Amino acid sequence: MTRWMDGCRRRMWLSMLVVPLLVPLLAVWPGEAVQLREYKSGIVWPEPPVVTPGTANSDPPSDAIVLFDGKDLSKWHGGENWEIRDGYAIARKTGITSKDSFGDIQLHVEFATPEKIEGRGQGRGNSGIYLMRRYEVQILDSYNNPTYFDGMCAAIYKQQPPMVNASRKPGEWQTYDIIFTAPRFAEDGKVLKPAAVTVIHNGVCVHNHFELLGGTAWDRPPQYTKHPDREPIHIQYHGNPVRFRNIWVRELKPIVGKKPQGKEKPASEAGAR
Ligand code: MG
Repeated sequence: MTRWMDGCRRRMWLSMLVVPLLVPLLAVWPGEAVQLREYKSGIVWPEPPVVTPGTANSDPPSDAIVLFDGKDLSKWHGGENWEIRDGYAIARKTGITSKDSFGDIQLHVEFATPEKIEGRGQGRGNSGIYLMRRYEVQILDSYNNPTYFDGMCAAIYKQQPPMVNASRKPGEWQTYDIIFTAPRFAEDGKVLKPAAVTVIHNGVCVHNHFELLGGTAWDRPPQYTKHPDREPIHIQYHGNPVRFRNIWVRELKPIVGKKPQGKEKPASEAGAR
């Protein structure tokens, strides 16, 4: 009888310890938590499409539009003016302008300023990436080459110097990874939302969602002039034989959710992975 009573007491103590532990574990069970979150927001999300990344992060992902793969510049107006050699293009005679137009984008560009140092300041390795043909991310040989800070390599020209100077030596390949949000205009030309740009230079973030003040003209203060939602990319020729390779772009489209209609179930409940 005493042994039976001892067993009862042990079971009672065990249940007092184990049951409070189980309740919070069940409450945070992963599947349940996700569904609860969807119901709280009241939004059903479409599944983000699958994109296969490149072998290296500098390689174009599967949804990229390749603008220059080292072979030809057929996707650019003015491409016939540039020299193509050993998988890269050399700026000559004129700038080049993409035949396609873009709005919000992720852009990857590789460039190298001339190995042989000629000129100084703005005359040394000058080129530039013009987003929508009018917002320039400067290219310059800024390795031991003083110039005005909002005109150095990776500056938003005449508007904002880079946070740091991440330039490599003349002749070495460098990278720009640019995230650009196009400006939004009202019908009457009023700026509803300015353009914004994030720039990663050689793996180093040098602009973090900088809001542009307008076009980056060299000879007048920046100002906005209404333009189409999509415009070409332009690469500047500034008299220096800057080299380019591996240029690709991705169009950025946010996933848009919607409020459930009637008895429509969230994607997670409908069996999507
Ligand atoms: Mg320039």
